[in-house]
Amino acid sequence: MPARAPKHRPHKADAVAHVPAEAVRLTTAQRGYGGRWQKARETFLKRAPLCVECQRSGRVRLATVVDHIKPHKRCQALFWDTDNWQALCKRCHDAKTAREDGGFGNAVRSARVP
Ligand SMILES: [Zn+2]
Repeated sequence: MPARAPKHRPHKADAVAHVPAEAVRLTTAQRGYGGRWQKARETFLKRAPLCVECQRSGRVRLATVVDHIKPHKRCQALFWDTDNWQALCKRCHDAKTAREDGGFGNAVRSARVP
């Protein structure tokens, strides 16, 4: 008899592989990034395949991350609002996450181009 039930892991969550340490305890599904999200982000990235931040800087780079422009903070309406989504490459998303998690939140907000 197996000691523990096998864990169900639908996919490797490549898009959220860089989650902050304090979020690691929660599974991607628990954090709202379940199968529905994976499908939605795939569809979104097919429609918007290029990183918007890079485009602003005149670069062309493939986006691999669907980012919530305004942090959803578990608000379902904000989470699923595609107007609040933007396609980013991993580098830009990591930079944005570092800015927002690094205590420079207010500076980031005023610096962001709408
Ligand atoms: Zn980028």
